[in-house]
Amino acid sequence: MFNICLFGPPGCGKGTQAAKIIEKYKLIHLSTGDIFREEIKNKTELGLTLKSYIDKGALVPDSVVLRELYKRAIEHMDSKGLVFDGFPRTLLQADMLTRLLYKRRIPISLVISIDANEKELFKRLLKRAQEQGRSDDNELVINNRIEVYKNQTFPLLNYYEKQGKLHRVEGMNSIEKVFEDIESIISKYIKG
Ligand code: AMP
Repeated sequence: MFNICLFGPPGCGKGTQAAKIIEKYKLIHLSTGDIFREEIKNKTELGLTLKSYIDKGALVPDSVVLRELYKRAIEHMDSKGLVFDGFPRTLLQADMLTRLLYKRRIPISLVISIDANEKELFKRLLKRAQEQGRSDDNELVINNRIEVYKNQTFPLLNYYEKQGKLHRVEGMNSIEKVFEDIESIISKYIKG
């Protein structure tokens, strides 16, 4: 199996790039944000709990994230590979992911961080708020999400760098250029 983790601050284009990666390499997309938004949309009991965190721009507790992610991931263990988008976001999640995959002798093949400039991100997210009306895309919440990323998720890059798995791309380039850079990283591991 070929598993990729996609990292990057909110608004860096993770979702867009994940969609392109899964299409080209026929991998399975696992976005915790999408999973949670679906629960909220379906007005499930879990969705109600999730909404209270997401609307504030806070992280959903690790135990909930891991349970929901695990449920979906094990359904795809016979696939070509997974693209984790927006996961892991804390050191505990990263450790749990490593353990889950290790038990099945499946590695995280590589980690791609889509780097982006904070001011530019803020502008992008405000624009997305107007276009898509996401409940967590308002000024206060956007600031909070960027802070949460810096404090809780950014340190994970070091965790993966030490394992020699980290690759970085410049996320302020065009969608096409970012994807080209990602392709050239992936092509070192698998054929398209
Ligand atoms: P995203 O679509 O990845 O930006 O995620 C939207 C929101 O869902 C985040 O701001 C968090 O509140 C929550 N979320 C998504 N993934 C995770 C995760 N791995 N850990 C904790 N919270 C998460």
